[in-house]
Amino acid sequence: MSHVYVLVEHTGDQLSPVTGELITAARQLGTVSAVVVGPAGTGDKLAPELARWGAAQVVDAQAADYDSRLLTPEVDALHGLGAANPAPILIAASATGNEIAGRVAARLASGVLSNVSGIRPDGAAQHAIFGGSYDAYATAAGPCPIYTLLPGSVAAEAEASVGEVAAMQLPAATDRDVKVESFTPAEKSARPDLPSAATVVAGGRGVGDEFAGVVEPLADALGAAVGATRDAVDEGFYDAAYQIGQTGVTVTPDLYIGLGISGAIQHTSGMQTAKNIVVVNQDQDEPFFQIADLGVVGDLHEIAPALTEQLKNRA
Ligand SMILES: Cc1cc2nc3c(=O)[nH]c(=O)nc-3n(C[C@H](O)[C@H](O)[C@H](O)COP(=O)(O)OP(=O)(O)OC[C@H]3O[C@@H](n4cnc5c(N)ncnc54)[C@H](O)[C@@H]3O)c2cc1C
Repeated sequence: MSHVYVLVEHTGDQLSPVTGELITAARQLGTVSAVVVGPAGTGDKLAPELARWGAAQVVDAQAADYDSRLLTPEVDALHGLGAANPAPILIAASATGNEIAGRVAARLASGVLSNVSGIRPDGAAQHAIFGGSYDAYATAAGPCPIYTLLPGSVAAEAEASVGEVAAMQLPAATDRDVKVESFTPAEKSARPDLPSAATVVAGGRGVGDEFAGVVEPLADALGAAVGATRDAVDEGFYDAAYQIGQTGVTVTPDLYIGLGISGAIQHTSGMQTAKNIVVVNQDQDEPFFQIADLGVVGDLHEIAPALTEQLKNRA
């Protein structure tokens, strides 16, 4: 049977949720080789969990200087594997994942299908386009087509496999590599990460400077991540790291709630694959209502706090 590589997203000790989704999507293309890149032994640590998701093989791609490097160990690992034994490659569609995909594609002379929301058994990848009005399917040329899969777009399903570990030594950094001098993680928010959150509450210009008073309490009542439009960011109402859309983060939650957002294509292109879309806007003619599963016409400053209260009372 053919095989397929999955670049494992992990924190060193744990798999990120998107890894189960990537392996689930990859299984229909062939036998899964899960590629763990990190300091020696990371693959051994993660192998039992990867086997639970369906990885037949776990490549423990080891770089002694991993902690002081950016991206190139992952690129070296996938390039080495793809060049020696060509197969499709699946990577999470994060900013980092898309950059790795581009670099590996250049080295392998392969096509890249980025930010896909599904992959068919014949290898065609699904893109939701024009505000989710169309599903486009595309294939990539070359023996190693590369896919970046949007977190949350495929439901992860476990399927036990053997998870046999094979060690792979990666080359050390060259003098052209970026060297990380220090690494201090930013203070972690108690809210879920925006790109992989199951629920997102987003605010637009209509929220004004009430994100802390209106959007965040509703998000916390739902255990959701907070997002924003570019106009809300440009106005200084919320941090740019939380911008959703064409020039921001792409989200694929089960539930997306948009407050005071008009629904410009540059915003909807980053959230149109949400499974359920709720829109609150005082102007019933706004385009966002056209892709809403539930539209509420009214003042968000009344509706959102009332909904938050109801949710708190039910908890
Ligand atoms: C190259 C390019 C890239 C871009 N990239 C992005 C991107 O990544 N992400 C993005 O979001 N945008 C992006 N934009 C901007 C985009 O075109 C829109 O301008 C932006 O999405 C609009 O933001 P908004 O909906 O918050 O503001 P507006 O369009 O001003 O909408 C505000 C809405 O709030 C409603 N409202 C006001 N008060 C209330 C109230 N009290 N109760 C209920 N509703 C209320 C109004 O009816 C209105 O619909 C980009 C633009 C360009 C040109």
